[in-house]
Amino acid sequence: YYEQLKQTERLKITGQLAAAVAHEIRNPLTVVKGFLELYEKDPAVSNDIKRHYRLMISELNTAEHVISQLLSVAKPNNDLDIETVNVNDVLQSATDLLHSYGLLHENKIELNMAEECFIAANTIEIKQLLINIIKNAIEASEIGDSVKITAEMKNDLVEIKVIDYGQGMSEVEVESLGTPFYSLKSKGTGLGMMICYNIAKKYKGTIDVQSTKGEGTTVTIRFPSENNL
Ligand code: ADP
Ligand code: MG
Repeated sequence: YYEQLKQTERLKITGQLAAAVAHEIRNPLTVVKGFLELYEKDPAVSNDIKRHYRLMISELNTAEHVISQLLSVAKPNNDLDIETVNVNDVLQSATDLLHSYGLLHENKIELNMAEECFIAANTIEIKQLLINIIKNAIEASEIGDSVKITAEMKNDLVEIKVIDYGQGMSEVEVESLGTPFYSLKSKGTGLGMMICYNIAKKYKGTIDVQSTKGEGTTVTIRFPSENNL
């Protein structure tokens, strides 16, 4: 219990620091990215240089991502609007976003949305949750492997599955998910799953992880459905 307290305290301080610094870093990043995007479109610029610009933009996107992860831990927003979230739309825009940020490493995302699913939550938070989980699935996969995503109604629940055939996790690794700063990646923040569990809890959802080392992982996300039809 003492250890947990210490961790909560550590997280609080990290959060305050992150919130204080994030905006200061985010603004200059946005300015630099804006110019790079402009130069990247300049017809006078050679293709070789353009490639360098794109690389720079992609690195800035990564930095922006880390900052927003830190910010969502730093300032859990408790007065966001609760809306009727169209799960299929959010899944589509989450995968589009990963695509446009160049984060799909030639992985094929197979979206299987059989029916309309609605939940009562904040759209941005649900999108954040799905992006974090899909991003993990891609990062665990080999280049070119598919990631399958399904969404369907199961009685009173909306059930979303994100299935990858990547490196998988041991039992201990699965149990460590959601622990702040737990990451086995060289560039990981170890905050992604923690954010996901927080968002799920907020809207009375659950996240269940089944994984086999070397075979892959299935993450099942369930939310009470909002009957909007
Ligand atoms: P990060 O992605 O920044 O490392 P996360 O909280 O998102 O932080 O994930 C924590 C760790 O859990 C990852 O570093 C990885 O080792 C493991 N993990 C999460 N999702 C998967 C997955 N789909 N397959 C294999 N390992 C995973
Ligand atoms: Mg992650």
